[in-house]
Amino acid sequence: MHSFRYHNGNLHCEGVDLERVAEKYGTPLYVYSAGTILDHYRRLNSALRDLDHSICYAVKANSNRAILNLLLREGAGFDIVSGGELFRVLAAGGDPQKCTFAGVGKSQDEIEYALDQRVLSFNVESEAELAYIDRIARSKDLRAPIALRVNPDVDAGTHRYVSTGRSENKFGIALDRAAEVYERAARLPNIAIRGVQMHIGSQITDAAPFAEAIAKVTALILQLKEQFALDFFSVGGGIGIVYESSFASGSGDWWSEKDRITATSTLPLTIHDYAAAILPPLRALGLRVLLEPGRLLVGNAGVLLTRVRYIKQTEHKKFVIVDAGMNDLIRPALYQSYHEIVPVREPDDSARELVDVVGPVCESGDFFAQDRELTKMHEGDLAALMSAGAYGFVMASNYNSRPLPAEVLVQGESFSLVRRRQTMEDLVRGECN
Ligand SMILES: *Cc1c(COP(=O)(O)O)cnc(C)c1O
Repeated sequence: MHSFRYHNGNLHCEGVDLERVAEKYGTPLYVYSAGTILDHYRRLNSALRDLDHSICYAVKANSNRAILNLLLREGAGFDIVSGGELFRVLAAGGDPQKCTFAGVGKSQDEIEYALDQRVLSFNVESEAELAYIDRIARSKDLRAPIALRVNPDVDAGTHRYVSTGRSENKFGIALDRAAEVYERAARLPNIAIRGVQMHIGSQITDAAPFAEAIAKVTALILQLKEQFALDFFSVGGGIGIVYESSFASGSGDWWSEKDRITATSTLPLTIHDYAAAILPPLRALGLRVLLEPGRLLVGNAGVLLTRVRYIKQTEHKKFVIVDAGMNDLIRPALYQSYHEIVPVREPDDSARELVDVVGPVCESGDFFAQDRELTKMHEGDLAALMSAGAYGFVMASNYNSRPLPAEVLVQGESFSLVRRRQTMEDLVRGECN
């Protein structure tokens, strides 16, 4: 799969020249490759073909309706974390009965909405929530389908802000208490036990923690299978992707190796490795398996296009000031994360310099790279912040009263606007003096 590569001197997404897209819709601009998303979905599906499984895409990674629609037409279900995400799935034409509803703080309105829409399962994160869902279901004379989210207490070796499977995290119910909470759930008249769920974190780049977590919950699941009519075990998401490659140096294709999550990977985790680690223990359970990948499907399928506004040389540093800011892509500021920065015009010399790439927002945390060696950039140049398809636009804000960027979806030779850029009027909509 070659989704982002130089062709005729310009960076292309599939068959589309990114300079053309930026000229048509302006910058900052998110551009997604439908082909890459579908490729990832299909490869994961096919790696698990020997297992009774369903992929429930984690909507929070990128919730644009066009992407939800693309995935639902492939047969995907959805993992949602709010009433708003359920609304989006329905707006995209999705089936609520393929939706699992996660999150530690579901509101009454959200629970009622999800019950009315008949979601597949509420993934319950506390005893208080279990009792609350039971009460609301009773008022509607319904039985709420549930899975308990168990916390297996494994260290996924990921950033502490995206680790969720440790006992000190706010997520899930401790494994050693889970059996007892299932017994309680069984006694609640308006609760129907459907499954077991876990999710140990995000951007996990080693298969071992996934296998370890499954091993830790196996005894519980076998015991629960004896007691209840379990329908599924959801292993969550969290599969990491490669953010750093040798693309910028021109020595590597973004997507050259067939079975790699990304091409010039220095990290060991591939879809194949992931499947090889989880398949044997999951097959032994004899239960339908749900998977909730978010980042894996969309992360490397998107870029944020930005234009260089000014070059500012100070006594200490050279700053490349671009028109995208932390309000458009907050990952570097929030998680110290790395995004490769690639010029849209293929560089014709190898002149490189040490720069900071910063946005226009009034915060010192508003940077995309610090002291990074990049191809020399000039005012007006276009650059792509790579791997911005997951946790990019969805975390964008209007901070500094900056309108939200537009989003474009590329399919082969064609591209279409899937969300228009916000206007100034959008900024004050709903406010009054
Ligand atoms: C965020 C989340 C996911 C997806 O995580 P990725 O790292 O994007 O794969 C899956 N399940 C739950 C419950 C989540 O909260």
